[in-house]
Amino acid sequence: MDRETSNDVAGQGRAIPVTVIPGDGVGPEIVRAAQRIIAAAGVPIAWQEAEAGAEVFRRGDSSGVPAATRDSIESTRVVLKGPLETPVGFGEKSANVTLRKLFETYANVRPARELPGVPTRYSGEGVDLVVVRENIEDLYAGIEHLETPDVAQGLKIITRKGSEKVIRYAFELARREGRAKVTCATKANIMKLTEGLFKRVFEEMAPEYPEIQAEHLIIDNVAHQLVKNPAQFDVVVTTNLNGDIISDLASGLVGGLGFASSGNYGDGVAIFEAVHGSAPKYAGKDVINPTALILSSVMMLRYLGQSAAAAAVEDAVLVTLEEGSAVTQDLARQLGGDVEHAASTTGFTDRVVANLGRRPRTVPVRARLIDETVERRPAWSYGTDRYASIARSLVGLDVMIESDMAVDELGDELARLAGGALRLAMLESRGTKVYPSIGLSVDHVRWYRGRFLAHDGRTPSEEDLVGLLGRIATRHRWTEALRLQSFDGEPGFTRAQGE
Ligand code: NAD
Repeated sequence: MDRETSNDVAGQGRAIPVTVIPGDGVGPEIVRAAQRIIAAAGVPIAWQEAEAGAEVFRRGDSSGVPAATRDSIESTRVVLKGPLETPVGFGEKSANVTLRKLFETYANVRPARELPGVPTRYSGEGVDLVVVRENIEDLYAGIEHLETPDVAQGLKIITRKGSEKVIRYAFELARREGRAKVTCATKANIMKLTEGLFKRVFEEMAPEYPEIQAEHLIIDNVAHQLVKNPAQFDVVVTTNLNGDIISDLASGLVGGLGFASSGNYGDGVAIFEAVHGSAPKYAGKDVINPTALILSSVMMLRYLGQSAAAAAVEDAVLVTLEEGSAVTQDLARQLGGDVEHAASTTGFTDRVVANLGRRPRTVPVRARLIDETVERRPAWSYGTDRYASIARSLVGLDVMIESDMAVDELGDELARLAGGALRLAMLESRGTKVYPSIGLSVDHVRWYRGRFLAHDGRTPSEEDLVGLLGRIATRHRWTEALRLQSFDGEPGFTRAQGE
């Protein structure tokens, strides 16, 4: 069912189907709180309860997400979920990451704004930003190998399509919320091809949004600036690992995890959850702050086109925080107040329900996010024709080799093993050229990369590549081989330090 259909259904007074995953630890408590408030706000939802997380892992399902849950999400296309525990030491993947990947929810959206009644170091500065984090790619692809008993490698995957989807999402979000600026945060100065691709796509797309200021900042500077002057940021779009870190930082600026909401948006599927985890030490104690999940459910109501109910729930939360009539333990601790007599999860929820229909006195920085349903679908810049027109040529081969030999000896030998159109251009170790020696002292880790390039004016053949690997394999253990290509005359690979 798409969102329009669900709106129609709601308009006819029929319930909107939504998959609800209570989750682990404190999950069921906060999910029930949100469900109660949504019901009290008069939104008819047909909840389909589904399982994922710890119990599912324990039953031996290594994905943590059973087929029945996948089927439910396939049909409802909207999920409200509690946190899921990732058991340590089972070797399983995180069920959270699995859910995001299975349904290709490529944009993780985490608003961080000043809330009334939640004092922070930045109170009064007007912090009101949204981190839009790419949610599928990067090192979270989880493609890792032990190349030797001592050397681990993880692949950082960045695609033009993945980058374009999330960057488009960020610009569209800025446009519909009337935001002035989108900051792209990358480490393109170091990772020129991966983070560099993300930055390039951002720069290519920015002119489509002339009314929005587009800037690029290096991610470490963004971390620094977020702490020094967070109010300068509006929308920040970034790659997966960067976004994971700075969105938690941003939550910390406005009161902490108890208040941090999020939505994971894909094409036609969305998953809403608190940023925080299962907080196991508080499970079942009725003390956790449910605000993060309640505000995530506000994002969900907007996505479902239930703008009036979303505004009513958000206002009721803001009134409750503003009046301080129900202060949960985490906030009481921040306020230096009476933690022992703080409000319970249920007590806080009761107050929010009681405050439905009231408007906050102090205007929050952003009264409400604009209805999500006006979002425009992304389009892809690399169509088939453009893709096919890119001229590519094979220029060589990188071969990763495990070896205990002295570097010069190994280099001399690999140079002799080269043949056909290929010559050994260099050996490097962890990104630094070690052969021919440029006089650097580099630690020996028994793992090298031999770079074989074509002799001037020649193009290597497939036989050259395979023949070379065959000859190397007779004397050495090679662990990986990568084609070196150029695209429209530009090398599709980076140089080693010192190359
Ligand atoms: P956590 O977020 O559960 O807890 C971090 C700290 O914040 C703890 O002190 C906790 O008590 C406190 N806290 C968290 N939410 C709170 C709230 N609503 N109100 C008051 N205090 C709150 O992080 P963790 O301890 O690192 O992780 C616990 C488990 O949760 C792990 O298994 C982890 O993998 C999982 N996890 C799941 C998600 C998710 O489902 N999206 C996210 C993060 C962690």
